Amino acid sequence: MLIDILPISHHTGDFLELDLAPSSAELGLDPGDTAGFSAISFSGRIENTGKGSYRLDGKLHATLTEPCARCLVPVTSDLAADVAEDYRPGLLATNTGLDEEGYRYEGHVIDIRQALHDNLLLSEPQKIVCSPDCQGLCPVCGQNLNLGHCTCGDDHPDQESPFSQLKQLLQD
Ligand SMILES: [Zn+2]
Ligand SMILES: [Zn+2]
Repeated sequence: MLIDILPISHHTGDFLELDLAPSSAELGLDPGDTAGFSAISFSGRIENTGKGSYRLDGKLHATLTEPCARCLVPVTSDLAADVAEDYRPGLLATNTGLDEEGYRYEGHVIDIRQALHDNLLLSEPQKIVCSPDCQGLCPVCGQNLNLGHCTCGDDHPDQESPFSQLKQLLQD
């Protein structure tokens, strides 16, 4: 993920084609995280945009496995992100991509890992559900309601509701 830009450093408009398949570990995306990324690929190019700046352009693909937000069953989804990031010479310590200036590089090597990492996390859906009408888990017994109904709802309709206690207080 370290790109030697020396061959394209002489002329504005020169570029290198990139076809990469980084592992999640290389991008600092721990499999132990809440989200598991796999089958990561990036294809695109890095171009000399003049005055020491370079632009990383391309398409990022990955497979994300994450628990359903309602029933916790693992869900696999395909992610795709358009990457367009600018690199300017500077100290690598500031290579967070978080400031408005974009990413930094030192010498004639551009490390694109942080940008791919950030773009992958940004492409992650806010909320993953196994199906739009997932019934989730019963809040009382934990039964996966997609697989069958439990009896909690029938027997104790108000058991877990914060309002049931309030109702009792009001009645007392
Ligand atoms: Zn679900
Ligand atoms: Zn239940």
